[in-house]
Amino acid sequence: MSRLLITDAHLLHPETGTRTEAGWIEVADGRIAATGTGRPPAPGEAVRVLPVNGATVLPGLVDAHVHLLVTSLDLVDAASWTPGYATVRALAEAGRMLRRGFTTVRDVGGADHGMARALAEGLALGPRLIHGGKALSQTGGHGDLRPLGEEALPCCESRPNFARIADGVDAVRAAARDEFRKGAAHLKVLVSGGVASPHDEIAAVQYSEEELRAAVEEAGNHNRYVTVHAYHPRAVERALRAGVRCVEHGNLLDDATLRLLVEKDAFLVPTLVAYEQTAKLGARSGLPESSRRKLTEVRDAGLATLERAHRAGVNLVFGSDLLGPLHPAQPTEFLLRAEVQPAADVIRSATTTAARLLGLEGEIGTLAAGAHADLLVVDGDPLADLGVLADPERRLRHVVKAGAVV
Ligand code: ZN
Ligand code: ZN
Repeated sequence: MSRLLITDAHLLHPETGTRTEAGWIEVADGRIAATGTGRPPAPGEAVRVLPVNGATVLPGLVDAHVHLLVTSLDLVDAASWTPGYATVRALAEAGRMLRRGFTTVRDVGGADHGMARALAEGLALGPRLIHGGKALSQTGGHGDLRPLGEEALPCCESRPNFARIADGVDAVRAAARDEFRKGAAHLKVLVSGGVASPHDEIAAVQYSEEELRAAVEEAGNHNRYVTVHAYHPRAVERALRAGVRCVEHGNLLDDATLRLLVEKDAFLVPTLVAYEQTAKLGARSGLPESSRRKLTEVRDAGLATLERAHRAGVNLVFGSDLLGPLHPAQPTEFLLRAEVQPAADVIRSATTTAARLLGLEGEIGTLAAGAHADLLVVDGDPLADLGVLADPERRLRHVVKAGAVV
């Protein structure tokens, strides 16, 4: 039975948005056993004591929008990778995410059950991986990356790719069932145009309401949920009416759609840092001119929409959506959100609210007894300065996953 006692630590509780006086946290068998302030309990035998000299301990962070498998922006090079090589690269990135303080990530396109298994078995170091297999795209949708000169359908499930094509109610059902067969914890459906896809407009609506209802029904049958990639009110309204539970991006949403999100108790996962970072790269991102135009369109609106969503009381969850060489910027999403939200709310988006989205309330994102002992030890007070979480190289002292110090 492995035991750990962290002492002389300020405990940050996301639920209340408070940070205690110096206290302690006791871990046994990968779970939080007890916490308190003041004098720590006497350590029993075989307890590792970790005094942290006034540092802050908070729950490990959740990034609810990653693509572990997309480790390069060079699509020509990536086309020559074998699935094995692509997976090794993805798991290496998973290790780096853990060292940035993310102890749980939700993959919304690309990661598979083999990667989740390798991480769960400790074959590779990384966060808990909640995967949704491949996203569903209609022909010509955000996941259809064929050059216009190519007629053949992209060949499909065996190839490392973030999406698969499914058109029509029956095909959507079959694809959804196939992803759930392979252990998907959620189903991602692409319902509006996107930045990286070469042939669709952001304003396009993808998938009919009937197809979306089929996806939602299949997810419900499996006790799972559907999340959608979408930017604008038309696509999001259709998705929410069909019973979708979560929306990714949402940069162009108006107040009526934000109210509908609240009414449905649905979740929104903005991914502002992806646009910031891609815009910085400019032409070096490898994105064609058409994509860079679309990038400007959504980037300019993103922060203001987040502010309105926050005021409206939408369930907001932390996401980054960074690809390839942009991954190191993952925690700087905290700084962007800090511009329009109080620190405590931003921290909840990456802990308690994220846990609720994942159906892991009380299991992750909290210091409550019984939760997985996924913990960060940081220098400084993230409630006073979110820069603490945005700069893991200098501020993050220890990452603890399932009670083990990484
Ligand atoms: Zn997307
Ligand atoms: Zn994405």
